[in-house]
Amino acid sequence: METRSFLTNSDAHSLPRIAREYNKMLVEDISFKEIVKAIKNQDGRRILANYGLDPKLGKYHRSFCEDCNDSIEITEAATTCPRCGGVNITFGVFDRIELIKDKKESKSPKHRPPYIYQVPLTFIPGVGGKTIDKLLDNFETEMNILHKVSQDDIEAVVGEKIASNIINATNGKAKVHSGGGGVYGKVSL
Ligand SMILES: [Zn+2]
Repeated sequence: METRSFLTNSDAHSLPRIAREYNKMLVEDISFKEIVKAIKNQDGRRILANYGLDPKLGKYHRSFCEDCNDSIEITEAATTCPRCGGVNITFGVFDRIELIKDKKESKSPKHRPPYIYQVPLTFIPGVGGKTIDKLLDNFETEMNILHKVSQDDIEAVVGEKIASNIINATNGKAKVHSGGGGVYGKVSL
């Protein structure tokens, strides 16, 4: 089974969101031949990491009470609303998995690469369109800003407050209110 690889790919509804999901590959050059080898885990080529939107931020992560107009963040699967007791619920992915799973913990094959959660810039408090334009002018891609550029370098472009928001959000220090019912999750710092 080691010829099967875990991949994370964007469905690319819009260009600015195309790198919300992507794969980091070990290849010798950028060619289709090398990419095929990496996907098949051949000759030392392989997938090094999967990157994807933090699932909590997804539009259907948790069950959502249509009457309270908010997602439900209890630890078990939510089939009724603990706030109003109602059953007018749009089911969440997490809740569905909790209900149908037949093992206590998920087990990944040994060759599975790490899955790195991403908090896109548009989700980070204080980061608006103008700030994103400035950051992209300086660092070219959102992938660079979220995973490579140092806090000092970001600070030099957008100031201390926004830089620390970006670093905290990308380090997993932010609080995330789960998305549900077609509404994205929210980051607070
Ligand atoms: Zn409710």
